Amino acid sequence: MAVIERTCIGCRTRRRRDDLIRLQVVGNVVVPGGAHTPGRSAYLCPSRACWDAALRRKAFARAFRMPVKVDPTLWERLQGDHVSAPRLVSGTGRAAIDGSRAGRDE
Ligand SMILES: [Zn+2]
Repeated sequence: MAVIERTCIGCRTRRRRDDLIRLQVVGNVVVPGGAHTPGRSAYLCPSRACWDAALRRKAFARAFRMPVKVDPTLWERLQGDHVSAPRLVSGTGRAAIDGSRAGRDE
């Protein structure tokens, strides 16, 4: 039985795909990936450290090969969501990771 491996975008470790959290991009917003949803995916260990590393290194943009927005609270939602049906996330327009000081008025 073939073991499908994917690389975590946070720590770059290859692991069984079943052990990784799948992420997808809809429009340009990163959302939890469904098990059989088509499209480009990124994979992450179920570890907060990997999530933080991926955010810091802008690994999402690299994985999806386009500028993407990542809601910093997505990780918390993933904890409850990634085993169930994916939900489209709305209202995350401000949560870009490119600015180091999001949400600050000049
Ligand atoms: Zn990892």
